[in-house]
Amino acid sequence: MDKTTYYSKNKEMRKEYGRKYYEENKEKMRIYQKAYQAKYRQREGFKEWKSNYMKEYQKEYFKKNPPDKEKQSERMKKYFEKNKDRMNAYWKKYRDSDRGKEVMRINNWKQIGVIDTDFKLLYEQYKKETHCWICGCEYTRPRHKHLDHDHETGEVRYICCMKCNIQVLGRKRGSK
Ligand SMILES: [Zn+2]
Repeated sequence: MDKTTYYSKNKEMRKEYGRKYYEENKEKMRIYQKAYQAKYRQREGFKEWKSNYMKEYQKEYFKKNPPDKEKQSERMKKYFEKNKDRMNAYWKKYRDSDRGKEVMRINNWKQIGVIDTDFKLLYEQYKKETHCWICGCEYTRPRHKHLDHDHETGEVRYICCMKCNIQVLGRKRGSK
């Protein structure tokens, strides 16, 4: 018999044997491995040692392979460009959802300086209002509704229409 055919045949056989052995003893091997790992993990200081080791490893890795900021941002740009439509659609859907509307409204209030202990409750109240607290007009467009707050303390004062906010409260503010 040719040596190479003998070898390749033998190799196949060994492979087959190993596969069979693994199949037959899979469960046993898994249990043994688990027990071994559990025992090893229990050893004192293992957790700290491992986390320190990982930290050091990462530090070394970044020292050797510093991330290329320019390349990274270039990659991000490309990603956004490629997925622009999908992402825009996603954001549009989020903005139009009740949750998105609430988050954005509350963020806007915080940005303009409104201070409140419970923004969620404030938003619920704001959403419920159908008429201006000052002149009593009905809100026909969402943009009509306005949350008025004290610019010095951040405290909420009124939920009123845009007109009242400018004409009534604006004057008050100016005369102060
Ligand atoms: Zn009004």
